[in-house]
Amino acid sequence: MKENKTIYCYKCAGEIKNSHDLVVTNNFLLIVPYHKKCFSKELMGLSTILVGNFPINGAMSNVSTILAIIFGTILLFIRDLRYISVMLLLFLGIRFYSWFQYERHL
Ligand SMILES: [Zn+2]
Repeated sequence: MKENKTIYCYKCAGEIKNSHDLVVTNNFLLIVPYHKKCFSKELMGLSTILVGNFPINGAMSNVSTILAIIFGTILLFIRDLRYISVMLLLFLGIRFYSWFQYERHL
């Protein structure tokens, strides 16, 4: 059963209606949704200091997620590089959070 949750843009507070218009990124320590348009405006403004330059969702992010899983698994077995594996796990956690909170509802 699909749960209907309305996703609101962090900048303009308008409703985000479809997944093509959704950009999830970090705003300082928060993971927040934006309209595509609002995200690019945010990057041009002063708040670019706080807003992440890379969307957490989208095609590029899916590729990095797959790479993080592959390299994370390999690095887990190399004793000296295990800490990198933990960092990749954190990245996967953020990616999952973005999907769980926002993307799956659209
Ligand atoms: Zn917006």
